[in-house]
Amino acid sequence: MGAQIIDGKAFAAKVRGQVADHVARLKSDHGITPGLAVVLVGEDPASQVYVRSKGKMTVEVGMNSYEHKLDPDTSEADLLALIAQLNTDPEVHGILVQLPLPKHLDEDLVINSIDPAKDVDGFHISNVGLLGTGQKSMVPCTPLGCLMMLREYHGSLSGMDAVVIGRSNIVGKPMAQLLLGDSCTVTIAHSRTRDLPDVVRRADIVVAAVGRPEMVPGDWIKPGATVIDVGINRVDAGESKTRLVGDCDYDSCAEVAGAITPVPGGVGPMTIACLLANTVTACCRANGVAEPE
Ligand code: NDP
Repeated sequence: MGAQIIDGKAFAAKVRGQVADHVARLKSDHGITPGLAVVLVGEDPASQVYVRSKGKMTVEVGMNSYEHKLDPDTSEADLLALIAQLNTDPEVHGILVQLPLPKHLDEDLVINSIDPAKDVDGFHISNVGLLGTGQKSMVPCTPLGCLMMLREYHGSLSGMDAVVIGRSNIVGKPMAQLLLGDSCTVTIAHSRTRDLPDVVRRADIVVAAVGRPEMVPGDWIKPGATVIDVGINRVDAGESKTRLVGDCDYDSCAEVAGAITPVPGGVGPMTIACLLANTVTACCRANGVAEPE
């Protein structure tokens, strides 16, 4: 295996350390404690795990965590009323509504009811527009984590060919915007892309955000390219066990790539670290205090 492993777990720990330092300064110099409110509607087991771990890490970096767990049949009016209350609560600097929401709730309506300044997931239409026009915004956590790892590994990304596989609003599209912002030449591939292997082979940077286990084999990767694997797929591991794999076939990709993120331990930990960083940023902006770089 030739590729350098990009250790998202270690990098995320470093980012969380920086967040904790900033939180400590906000407390000591300004008497402010950043607060993150997470709203979970229903009992989706994966969402419950995510919310628990977000809450735990929020507290670990010294911030206040406010968890709101609502019944699966919560009405849209009640959810919107809670968000309105969080929007005006001065102790709450970041609001995250855990997705997916139960089917009877309109996700777009709910997300767009969050104050854009507190929208630490960066999904509000105002933040999407700001990111798209290169203005200061709240940036979605998963693509932000990918960008940070790429910058850490490469330094400048200027002029590199990047292929993002997947065009979702939460990963693929904002990832492409961020890479464009860093002056990559960006291609967004999706399920209708013709000759995907050929498209991927041109890339210096491949970001796979598809949700199909081990879909990208090593022979699609240009030798020396950097592979960022966003996919989280649970697959059968025999003996009634399961294991997590990415969207890339790790072993064959690692033989050809110059660098690669593992699954687990790559993009996943960076996502939560960026959520915490976004909350500190939101808190600083709300209080007119210098925000982290
Ligand atoms: P979506 O299902 O919303 O989007 C998947 C994208 O992949 C779509 O744009 C789809 O194309 C494209 N696609 C599907 N099949 C193919 C194919 N055969 N060839 C090329 N493109 C294809 O997924 P998300 O963006 O929400 O998530 C993607 C993955 O990332 C999932 O595994 C998810 O679990 C993971 N994830 C990980 C996070 C983390 O923290 N590490 C956070 C968020 C997501 P089309 O639009 O044409 O249908």
